[in-house]
Amino acid sequence: MTQVNSDVIIIGAGPSGTSAAALIHQAGFKVAVIEKEEFPRFIIGESLLPRCMDLLEEAGLIDAVKARDYIVKHGAVFLTDDQRTDFEFGNQFTDGWGYTWQVPRDDFDHTLATAVEKMGVDIFWRHTVTDADCRADSATVTATGPDGNPVTFSGRFVLDASGFGRVLPRLMDLDLPSALPRRDSVFTHITGDRRPAGDAAGKIWICMLPENSWLWIIPFSNGKTSVGVVAEPAFIDNLGGSLDDKLSAIIDMSRPAADRLADRKPDFPARRIDGYSIAVKTLCGDGYALTGNATEFLDPVFSSGVTLALESANRAAKTLIRQLKGETVDWDKDYAAYLGHGVEVFRTYVNAWYDGALPTVFFSDKATPDIRSQICSVLAGYVWDMDNPFVAKHEKAVDKLAQLCDMRANK
Ligand SMILES: Cc1cc2nc3c(=O)[nH]c(=O)nc-3n(C[C@H](O)[C@H](O)[C@H](O)COP(=O)(O)OP(=O)(O)OC[C@H]3O[C@@H](n4cnc5c(N)ncnc54)[C@H](O)[C@@H]3O)c2cc1C
Repeated sequence: MTQVNSDVIIIGAGPSGTSAAALIHQAGFKVAVIEKEEFPRFIIGESLLPRCMDLLEEAGLIDAVKARDYIVKHGAVFLTDDQRTDFEFGNQFTDGWGYTWQVPRDDFDHTLATAVEKMGVDIFWRHTVTDADCRADSATVTATGPDGNPVTFSGRFVLDASGFGRVLPRLMDLDLPSALPRRDSVFTHITGDRRPAGDAAGKIWICMLPENSWLWIIPFSNGKTSVGVVAEPAFIDNLGGSLDDKLSAIIDMSRPAADRLADRKPDFPARRIDGYSIAVKTLCGDGYALTGNATEFLDPVFSSGVTLALESANRAAKTLIRQLKGETVDWDKDYAAYLGHGVEVFRTYVNAWYDGALPTVFFSDKATPDIRSQICSVLAGYVWDMDNPFVAKHEKAVDKLAQLCDMRANK
């Protein structure tokens, strides 16, 4: 049996795994990343938030991404058939990045992984983790290699960055059902997108649809555009035809989307993900921590997935580096509580999106420019800026504002 020794074993070479690997490697520790696929590989989750830029920069990965010339995303646009509201990241409250990118994930994840390998990190491609034994001072992970033979990885700590693979949550029975109602997604890439001109070309469009469903339009620099719907299962199931027919019918339910995408040609048959939301019992334990989508996944509406994947990787890596250097660390406080705060802020906004409070605020002319800039910082991913009242007192602030906008709208 092949044996690999390192200080840290990371499961998964998505953005969470590779950015954690970069930080730990640069701190002088030996890292082994285990990835079951060969990259480039398709994955959904293509719209970044400006907060990602700080995290890519800190991991030493931003220049590799810059070199890919991805389309610049200056903000987000929310649309109904007769209303539209634009958020510009350049007008946000927090002192952060004013833009980010829209990234085809096959290329983005491959770029990060290649950059990390160039730093000297070993990535074990086409190795599927099947077992793990995590203890306070040591860890062993077993994987099946490309030739079907087992490989044993030994180290001092495991970071599970396996995304929806959820390796440790499954092996350790840590999964919890999400408190959010089940929602599914159907998506494809298309050509023939009539993009807006200038800087507006790269913004994400979120088009509101009946029955609390919504559609994303995410343009790429390679000429393709990602289009997908998020809806409760019945909304999708009640439409006839193939998945392509259903997605096409849904696009035509939104006037702005139907106009913009009138010349669309799908690049591949539409795919469906059922019930993507999931929660977890704990984020860390003896000899392991979970990062990225291996933790909790709420909802794609505010494009927070990759941001939280990078943020959790950053925080877990820093906590682990201190531990490996001999410091006493409190994983619950230093890692889980920190990450939990950001997830709770996004949860408030996700809930307020689906209960209608946030759309009321978005389309109201009663939200002042100052308030909109504070909300814009949340949409930019700066959900740890406690100077922002829409972060520090997120639940109350959103609720009060929605009531105010609602009352004034009804006057
Ligand atoms: C419909 C939908 C739309 C989304 N849209 C967005 C968006 O616009 N913006 C955004 O930021 N996020 C979005 N997301 C979320 C985004 O996809 C994830 O949050 C993000 O990919 C998480 O990154 P990660 O590094 O944690 O995991 P991943 O990117 O999933 O990487 C995990 C890696 O682990 C590997 N792996 C899994 N199991 C094993 C195993 N047993 N052994 C070895 N390796 C393994 C996988 O092959 C994979 O490469 C969306 C999600 C959904 C469902």
